Parts: sequence; structure tokens; C-alpha cells
Amino acid sequence: MDYRKNQLIELDITDLGSEGEGIGRTGAFLWFVKGALPGDRVRASVMKLKKSYGYARLQELLRKSPDRVAPPCPVAASCGGCSLQALRYEAQLKFKEQKVLGNLRRIGGLELSGVQLHPIIGMEQPFRYRNKAQFPVGTGRDGRPTAGFYAGRTHSIIPCEDCLLGVEENAEIRRCVLRWMEEGGVPAYDEQSGKGFLRHILVRKGFQSGEMMVCLVTNGERWGENSALQLLSERLMKLPAVTTVVQNINTERSNVILGKKTQLLAGAGVIRDRIGSTEFLISAQSFYQVNPVQTERLYATALSYAGLSGRETVWDLYCGIGTISLFLARSARKVYGVEIIPQAIEDARRNAARNGITNAEFFVGKAEEVLPCQYEKTGERADVIVVDPPRKGCDEQCLATMLRMAPERIVYVSCDSATLARDLKYLLADGCYTLRELQMVDMFPQTVHVEVITLLSKLDSKRHINVDLPIDEMDLTSVESKATYKQI
Ligand code: SAH
Repeated sequence: MDYRKNQLIELDITDLGSEGEGIGRTGAFLWFVKGALPGDRVRASVMKLKKSYGYARLQELLRKSPDRVAPPCPVAASCGGCSLQALRYEAQLKFKEQKVLGNLRRIGGLELSGVQLHPIIGMEQPFRYRNKAQFPVGTGRDGRPTAGFYAGRTHSIIPCEDCLLGVEENAEIRRCVLRWMEEGGVPAYDEQSGKGFLRHILVRKGFQSGEMMVCLVTNGERWGENSALQLLSERLMKLPAVTTVVQNINTERSNVILGKKTQLLAGAGVIRDRIGSTEFLISAQSFYQVNPVQTERLYATALSYAGLSGRETVWDLYCGIGTISLFLARSARKVYGVEIIPQAIEDARRNAARNGITNAEFFVGKAEEVLPCQYEKTGERADVIVVDPPRKGCDEQCLATMLRMAPERIVYVSCDSATLARDLKYLLADGCYTLRELQMVDMFPQTVHVEVITLLSKLDSKRHINVDLPIDEMDLTSVESKATYKQI
């Protein structure tokens, strides 16, 4: 059947796409409808047509999904952050499980029957879990400064007084900054012209310590009087929660939030937090997991997958401020951490010293460069390698070196199951490793994102030789995986 733009169609929504959009079918034709949920029957207008699928705009809910709930946030529909808020939390968890397993099968070509799949770990309180908020600052239609979140796929700012994923204190910090801007006539940064001063308000809280940092991201060093920023900083420090204020200078015309230079305005310039028994200092620029409650569960899983006895050499690649490294160091002989951001490694070293950990060593650089280089230099194998890369996953050079180092266990922590699937396919390809366990942890309730942690173990080479099976076994695995791949 031919469809036209703006034509109205009626659909039963049966699935969710990877961005949380509803999926329905008319015959073999697939429709993506933002805001629709599985179980809904909707009327939608055709927006965009491709050969076998199209996009339609939700016009009317003809029948509501039993999993539909009223989103508690007033801007849930327009803000680009929470695409699953209208879905009951249990159904969100189910969606994430299916998404991850689907990617592993489709992209990774993995056959999961031999894998221990643990039920996803959700949150008891799936709101107010984020320890970090970053509000872009802009100018509202009324000409006044505003701050909030980007609308989905655009850079127009949806004003948001109180994001329900963040902590309550964020609201008064945001108000304080906006008031200062209005009083002093401080212009918000304008992405189009590259002019204006304040770009972002970044707030971090240590959930255990209660300490809070405000980082003001500015386009240039100062605005007006030298003392203007100082005045804002003093006001912020008077708020009960704020313990430090820093300024980050970003004059680049790009959408990267932070610039290279950070300077202190008040307080210590860092906040403290605790994971398990380890205390961490966190600065504005360092990566730090945003959901501390679930992080503790994630790291506990990483520790158990690492299976440490105290004698092991462990590499923690993409280590950030050394959180996983230090968490594992107490149970290992030696831990090496690698991270690309120099400030994060400074934090990692300070954190090691602070916690009296002397068996952790850190390298600044790309994992795909440091690991091969060190292995070349020392020839030292690893017993366990932990990787926790950003969404784009690991570089092939890094994966290849990991295999050459032949660790007993590889623990892969991933925030993007598509790149995880791609990398697992590579790591499992030569049949030396097997995927043993998989645990999902919902670090990002109300959004489509989910953290996955997997354990790969080296197959016992001695046993292989004894039983004289390696080639048969490998053939069988590849035949099986091809068969499953096609079936899907
Ligand atoms: N394991 C840490 C951080 C994980 S986030 C934790 O749990 O807190 C991923 C980290 O990888 C970020 O700190 C990022 O700066 C770093 N990174 C990105 N690309 C990298 C690369 N090529 N080599 C090493 N680190 C990299």
C-alpha cells in the first residue's frame, strides 16, 4: 500500500525501538512512533517514508497500554533525557533485557544458551539517582536567561526547574545562577553566534559525603568586572549543600561541554565520595559513574567476576579516576589502570594514596596504545583484564593485545550493548574464550540506557589437548553461531 505524508494511520504498537520509540506494523511495513508504547493502539500521522519503514507522529491514544503510567516529570515528553518515563518500571527493565540480548544475538552472532544470564538488577527508587547534572544555559523566548535540558535530537533548551533524575538541591543552584545572570545582565552563550558568556551549569554531588560542586562553564575567562564571578561563587557557597565552586573555560565552537582549563573559585575544587570502603576525590573533569547506588552493585559484580585470590596481575582499561582499579586492588597482587584523561589519572593516583593502596599503578594514554606498548616492553601477562570503555567500545588494537596477553578472565563492562556485541564477537572468534556470565545493571532508569557486565573465561587449553577436541569444538561453535545468526 502507498502512504502519503500527513496521512492518518491506526496502529497497534508491539515493540520498542532502541531509542525508546514505539514500533507498530501495517502488513510488512514498520512504523516508528515516538511516545507510543507496546500495548498502545494509536492514531498517528505519517511524517517520513522509507522503503520498508516510516516515521509517524502520535496524534491520539485509541487504547492505552497496561504498562503506561503518568510520567511524574512535567517535561518528560519534550525533554530528550527520559524516553521511558511513561513506561512502568518493570516493563522498562524487561525492554532493556530484550534490547541487550537482541544485540548480542544479532550484532554479536552469539548463541547464549551456555551463558549464565542473571536477571537485571533494577533500582528500588528509580528517580533522583543521578549525582551529576549538566544544564545548558540559553536565552528564553522572553529574552531572559534560562537553563534546562536539550529537547530530543536538537539543541533547543527545554527549561526545567527540577529534573526528577537529579538531586533536589540542583533547583536552588540553578535559580541562584539565573538570578545572578539577570541582575548583572550576563548573557547566556549562543551556539549560533559563539557569543555570550555562560554555557553550562554542571553540578556534582557525593552521595556519601553530601558534598556538592558547582562548575560554571564559561565562554572566556571573565564577564564585566573581575569580581562578578566571585560574587556568584560567594552566593553559591552560601547554599547549604555547596562545598566548592569552579570555573571551566570553553571557547570552542563545539558541543563538547567542558573546555581544557578549570580554575578554582571557592572551596577545595574537588568533592569526596565513597564506594564500598574506598574514598574518592572527584574533580570537575573526571568521569565518575552517575548512579552511585547501582555503581556499588556493578563493581561488586566486577569483583566477583574477576575471581581474585590476591596473587593476580590485573589491568583496568578505561579506568577513569581508578574506581574499579582501587576496588579490585585490595584483592589482587598488582593493578594497572589506563585512562586517556590526565586529570582523571591524577585523581586516581591521589585516590590510591589516600586509601593507602600501594599496589596500583596508573598510565595516561589510550588503552589501545598503552597496553601493546607495555606488553612489548615487559612481556608480562595479565591474569585478569577489566575493560569499561565509553559507548564506542574498544579499539581493535586493544582487543588484539588483550587476546595476546591471554588472561584467565576478561571482565567487560559496557554502557552500549551494540558495541559490546561487536567486541565480544571479536574476542570469542578464535575459540580461546567462552562467554560465561552476563549481568545487566540498570544504572539509568527512565532512559533507554543500561549497563552490562560480562565474564569471559579462557578455555582450559590442557583439557583441550587431552581430549583432543579443539578443532571439532571450534567448528561446531562457528556452525552453531552462523545458524543462529541466520535464523534471526
Ligand atoms: N571505569 C571507570 C570509567 C569508565 S568510563 C569507572 O567505572 O568510573 C570510560 C572512560 O574511558 C572515561 O574515563 C574516558 O575518559 C576513558 N577513555 C575514553 N577513550 C579512551 C581510550 N581510548 N583509552 C583509555 N581511556 C579512554
